[in-house]
Amino acid sequence: MDFPLRCHCGTVQATLAEPQRAARAVCYCRDCQAFARFLGQTARTLNPYGGTDIVATSPHRLRFTRGVEALRCMSLSEKGLLRWYAGCCNTPLANTPRDPALPYVGIVHDCLPESAAARDAAFGPARIALNTASATGPVAATRFATVAGVLKIMRNVLAARLSGKYRDNPFFGRDSGRPIVAPDVLTPSQRRSLYG
Ligand SMILES: [Zn+2]
Ligand SMILES: [Zn+2]
Repeated sequence: MDFPLRCHCGTVQATLAEPQRAARAVCYCRDCQAFARFLGQTARTLNPYGGTDIVATSPHRLRFTRGVEALRCMSLSEKGLLRWYAGCCNTPLANTPRDPALPYVGIVHDCLPESAAARDAAFGPARIALNTASATGPVAATRFATVAGVLKIMRNVLAARLSGKYRDNPFFGRDSGRPIVAPDVLTPSQRRSLYG
């Protein structure tokens, strides 16, 4: 069954197919924290230790059904991940690599409207903690679960590559391979101001 996605105001809506194939992790890196700060959403997006709950899957499983024109894209640096959000209400949506040849999307939990229990049922509990060194409180590293999660993500990437499904990426033009919204790249001083 497809899993629904929506921004807080409901303008942007999407569906995620095969949720059971997604991997789930909480990322404590400074860049994810900076993205939440950029959107003014730290209270909603970050857990008490600065972690962002992410659902990682292959982009071809994600389909926008409404409000795609409200999509915005930013990047913390020239080479940073593309960070997608809903410009209507500043809801963080997802992170993608800059190159669609690497078929990966990390969906930020803010746009998953279902209850925590429904999310756990669809994606499994968030057992993996990434980049715990930059957590703002004590968070245990999860080495074994992390390896299992990374393997699941790599399986998704490889399968999307081999099947050719990586060409169906809702964030990139199919022919151009370019992001459908030009990313706003922060200047170094803008970026510094977002690192806590
Ligand atoms: Zn919205
Ligand atoms: Zn991160």
